[in-house]
Amino acid sequence: MKITDSVIKVKGIGQKSAKLYEKLDIRTVGDLLCHFPRGYERYDMPVLVSQTEDGTVRTVEGILTAAAKPVAAGSRRMIVARIRDISGEMDLRWFNSPFVLKQLPLGRKLLFRGKISRKGRSVSMVQPEIYTEDAYRARMRSLRPVYSLTAGLSHNAIAKAVSEALAVTEIPDSMPQSIRRKRGFLKLEDAYRAIHCPEDESVTKEAIKRLSYDEFTRFLLSMRHLKAGILREPNSFLMEKHTVADGILAALPYELTAAQKRVLAEIIKDLCGAYPMQRLLQGDVGSGKTVIALLALAMCAEEGISGCLMAPTEVLARQHFAFFTKMLAPFGIGVALLVGSQTKTERKRMEEGIVSGEYPIVIGTHALFQDSVEFPKLGLVIVDEQHRFGVKQREQLMRKGEMPHLLIMSATPIPRTLAMMLYGDMDISLLDEQPAERLPVKTCVVDRSYRPTAYRFIKEHAAKGEQTYVICPLIEESEDSEGENVTDYARKLREEFGDEITVGTLHGQMNGKDKNAILSDFAEGKISVLVSTTVVEVGINVPNATIIMVENAERFGLSALHQLRGRVGRGAKQSYCILMQGNESEETKERLSVLLRARNGFAIAEEDLKLRGPGDFFGIRQSGDMDFAVADIIRDADMLAAAKEDTALLSDEEAEERFHLLVAERDSLVVY
Ligand code: ADP
Ligand code: MG
Repeated sequence: MKITDSVIKVKGIGQKSAKLYEKLDIRTVGDLLCHFPRGYERYDMPVLVSQTEDGTVRTVEGILTAAAKPVAAGSRRMIVARIRDISGEMDLRWFNSPFVLKQLPLGRKLLFRGKISRKGRSVSMVQPEIYTEDAYRARMRSLRPVYSLTAGLSHNAIAKAVSEALAVTEIPDSMPQSIRRKRGFLKLEDAYRAIHCPEDESVTKEAIKRLSYDEFTRFLLSMRHLKAGILREPNSFLMEKHTVADGILAALPYELTAAQKRVLAEIIKDLCGAYPMQRLLQGDVGSGKTVIALLALAMCAEEGISGCLMAPTEVLARQHFAFFTKMLAPFGIGVALLVGSQTKTERKRMEEGIVSGEYPIVIGTHALFQDSVEFPKLGLVIVDEQHRFGVKQREQLMRKGEMPHLLIMSATPIPRTLAMMLYGDMDISLLDEQPAERLPVKTCVVDRSYRPTAYRFIKEHAAKGEQTYVICPLIEESEDSEGENVTDYARKLREEFGDEITVGTLHGQMNGKDKNAILSDFAEGKISVLVSTTVVEVGINVPNATIIMVENAERFGLSALHQLRGRVGRGAKQSYCILMQGNESEETKERLSVLLRARNGFAIAEEDLKLRGPGDFFGIRQSGDMDFAVADIIRDADMLAAAKEDTALLSDEEAEERFHLLVAERDSLVVY
């Protein structure tokens, strides 16, 4: 089998499960092998029934008190059983799993692992895994990979498919021998095996190192590839006029911060320079990047050149569109919007307007890449929240013009030393200052016992017309049951709040239209409490939202939490951020408390570097930092340095050659 083959070829994957895999962006065997675990879990010591806490995943050892039996539960069939240990009794339930009956002999000591639910004095576990004593002891000695899942796909199913694929797939490895020897790296094939089937921790650690090195190398080579293209071309889009930009500045209700002025000057210098601009603008959340984009695009339009702004989500694109239209209308500059959920007619109308020059400024999502979109004289490309875009996509867009200027705006602050390594080939601007008059967001770190108080707090603020975001790490109930999910949580809140408070839900698997509808309802205040995954992380601006509560805060990186916190505190009212810790760990508490002290994203990233250091290999990776698949820029900073050192030794031709090799090898892997 080849890595480019469809996953359907893997034994055990049929049409139906292929659809589920697609939800996880897994289409080919290569995608499957690169669906790396988010981290690893250790099987912990069994506890007594009396020691279990509601909502945690635990293992309990016990003996059946009576034979397990099937019962009907609505349309689903359920198996129920009850066990006891020296401290008490616990009920067990399985849905649609008749086969477990055979695994439940009377009188035998068994271990059950699952999520604990406590109601009054009764304790129960739903869909627990069943182990014999020996099997469990064996598990306690090894790591278990934790994958991102979707409903209908279990850990076991993914693990099985991956090991099937590993057994029969030919895995090309383009890493030069010399590098492998110099760095003592595993072969790619062995690295895949060790990351998915961790038998020996030290080998798995080596696998993570090798794969991180590869990812960084790809990243660095793509950056170099882009830069090389730029340096070959002269600047064919000089932008020297700024009447419109000055007009906008005069119309703004505020003055630019000193940092904004400095960055703007840097950009203007590039726009009038010898080569096309290639600049990264790193700015903390709320530091005012959008207006910088607006001013640069206004200069572009004034020269009769077209420019575009690409946003990672439709919601953000629409938000930018509304702002730009309002600001540019007085100057007679047209703005077009290109997003996935538009009708064909709307879309056609926009595309015609772009070609005719009616809309020199275009705002959109990935829809901007499509072949049908033609820009007359595309001179400036701005990418908002860059790490969500692939190099390939970016190139597609660049090719629509003749080496347009490129400005990439990122709100993921990373420590300066790392930024220099990652983006050394680009010019970097920093927006490290917040517009002055904002009130700091009051932040607290609490555990689940605080929930009733938090709900009361949210309710009181809703009564005053203020709005709340509640963030959950998961979308729906899956085997990864330790985190809260949007669907069940919203149900719970609706029960809790009753009719007077409207609760809405939002997550990445909803279609564009539904997402827009929910977000515009939220922006208009028709929804008071929005339960969402981190899709709200980037860019959304609803100044009337004053509370953000993050469930399972331990599952997010500090920078991601800082981004989330940036969703509130955007208006004049006092705002609050409640970080709800889903475990009892003191270490987590300490890590989260960095956010109580620090308000600046760069300072937070530095703290994160110190706290996590290179180490912590097997913990569950927090989502939200930069979107590398295996690598963690902080944990794997040493591999970044190694990749930097090795790629720096390559001549331009060699670098270009390796870049093309890597792209050919795993096209979909190049995602920055
Ligand atoms: P981000 O950098 O996170 O993209 P935005 O561009 O969305 O931030 O700006 C956040 C908010 O700050 C917006 O409401 C914007 O109008 C406001 N803002 C931007 N610059 C200033 C400034 N110099 N003074 C006051 N408010 C500003
Ligand atoms: Mg922004």
